[in-house]
Amino acid sequence: MSIKIKNELKEVIIYGGLTMVKQRLTVGTWGNISIRDTETGLIYISPSGIDYADIRVDDIVVLNSDMEVIDGKAVPSIEKGMHIAVYNARKDVNTVIHTHPIYSSVLGVNHMELPGISEDFVQIVGDKIICSKYALPGTSELATNAVKALGSRNAVILPNHGTLCVGKNLKDALKISYVVEKTAHVYIMAKSIGAPYLISEHDIKVMQEFARNHYGQRE
Ligand code: 13P
Ligand code: ZN
Repeated sequence: MSIKIKNELKEVIIYGGLTMVKQRLTVGTWGNISIRDTETGLIYISPSGIDYADIRVDDIVVLNSDMEVIDGKAVPSIEKGMHIAVYNARKDVNTVIHTHPIYSSVLGVNHMELPGISEDFVQIVGDKIICSKYALPGTSELATNAVKALGSRNAVILPNHGTLCVGKNLKDALKISYVVEKTAHVYIMAKSIGAPYLISEHDIKVMQEFARNHYGQRE
């Protein structure tokens, strides 16, 4: 029986990469994106070191959860191990985005965490996000450290590197990536003129429950 490879998922990755660059969440060829096909469990991932504007459908690589190549001739992202480690740990996640954005990276250079300071952030990302232990890019240590610091939250700061954001689909993971970077920007600005107030644990729980069960349009 042949395995079904879906070009439409490859197109979604290409769109995601272009959006990531447009939103200034990364520069050059850095960062990477993957999607898990919920039907087959296969992981579609961006190729290594190709400008987002130049990535074509045939450049997207398909891997299984043991990191074996199922389809594609390009060299997959060097962070494939980190993406797969997230999917193996988090059944609720079907898209992983790794970015190199400015303000989150400022926190990462200082090995600082990003506390719960705004409504959108605590609702969709987590009560806060923490900075993982340092490891070199592309290593299994980076994958292990990132997954550990991610826990059940939807983002983690990679020290001296960037961020890793996760979601149930591309739209969700892009929104989370953008809200993380926006919140890091606000936090750094707020800290520069005063002492930011953090949202209480109680209010964070209330907002998370609201976001999960009531926010937006109901059927
Ligand atoms: P790739 O181009 O191999 O995805 O690597 C970029 C990167 O950000 C490594 O951490
Ligand atoms: Zn990187």
